Amino acid sequence: MSGQTDMVLVNKKGVRIDGRKTDEHRPVHIEAGVLSNADGSAYLEIGKNKVLAAVYGPRECHPRHLQDPTKAIIQCKYNMQAFSVSDRKRPGPDRRSIEISKIIAEALEKVVLTELYPRASIDVYIEILQANAGTRCAGLTAASVALADAGIPMRDIVPAIAAGKADGHVLLDLNKEEDNYGQADVPLAIVPSTDEIVLLQMDGNMTREEFDKALDMAFGACHDLYEIQKAALKTKYAATKGGEEDE
Ligand code: UDP
Repeated sequence: MSGQTDMVLVNKKGVRIDGRKTDEHRPVHIEAGVLSNADGSAYLEIGKNKVLAAVYGPRECHPRHLQDPTKAIIQCKYNMQAFSVSDRKRPGPDRRSIEISKIIAEALEKVVLTELYPRASIDVYIEILQANAGTRCAGLTAASVALADAGIPMRDIVPAIAAGKADGHVLLDLNKEEDNYGQADVPLAIVPSTDEIVLLQMDGNMTREEFDKALDMAFGACHDLYEIQKAALKTKYAATKGGEEDE
């Protein structure tokens, strides 16, 4: 988020470097139940981002001192693979991945009925296989599909997407160049049935009007993603049901 580049990120016709309009998100593809050894899983692509999410649990919480006698805890590990970016990322946890793991777990805690599973742990693993900006939102969107795929009771599933500002324009779903050279990035995650916000961050600067416009765009796109999340789960269950009937 340097805000400085000679690159034209949005041309005079309002078209972005990847051909999108300012209020358009990248193409999204979600598949549920892609890992047979996890209790629930999902694979998600949004533009060039490629993300895998796996869920285990509810299961006994380790380390035991983290157990909560009133509810399950959600332990999330967001990890960016060394090969996920063009400059190799140093493997292992860093401040950024610890922060992202924490905010994703906090967003998921708002929808999972954790009170049904005292002392348990629900473990969520997010692997970023390919990154092109927006991976925390992509990871959270995939993780909530994986939780639903695991059959974990939830109030709703959570879609997430960022909006921001680059080249002086308010843009939906910033790509890597727009994120690197842009002026602001605002990741948002909501509970679509109530429009409650479960994640909102902001990096950079925008006016109040620009912020409101970015938030409006991100809310609309979250509702689009929600439909794709539900469709992925329906496809998985239609396939499973067909398989069971065949047996
Ligand atoms: N990035 C990178 N190396 C890193 C961290 C991030 O190349 O160690 C890139 C990656 O493409 C990522 C983007 O920078 O998607 C934006 O990162 P940010 O921290 O804003 O999180 P994100 O937008 O992925 O949620």
